[in-house]
Amino acid sequence: MTCKCFARCEADCVCDHDWTPPAVIALREEVERLRAELAACREDAERYRWLRYPRMGWDIVRKTDGELLCAEYLDGIELDAAIDAARKGEGE
Ligand SMILES: [Zn+2]
Repeated sequence: MTCKCFARCEADCVCDHDWTPPAVIALREEVERLRAELAACREDAERYRWLRYPRMGWDIVRKTDGELLCAEYLDGIELDAAIDAARKGEGE
């Protein structure tokens, strides 16, 4: 929409036109999208932290070329390290 009162700036406008620059509107939308993405990531992180809490433990099975190498009971920091190594391709 455009200014209906033909004002040249927001200070002179009497028609309630929204003078917010398009770049600001785009940035607000990006902030909203990023906040939603952050909330989803935070939920995932909180789920993982609940799983890795020492009251829980996981038998981690490591495989190489489909062959079972070993199964280890891991939790907390050790579970983090095993996951990080597997994600880097070092744990296979
Ligand atoms: Zn106006």
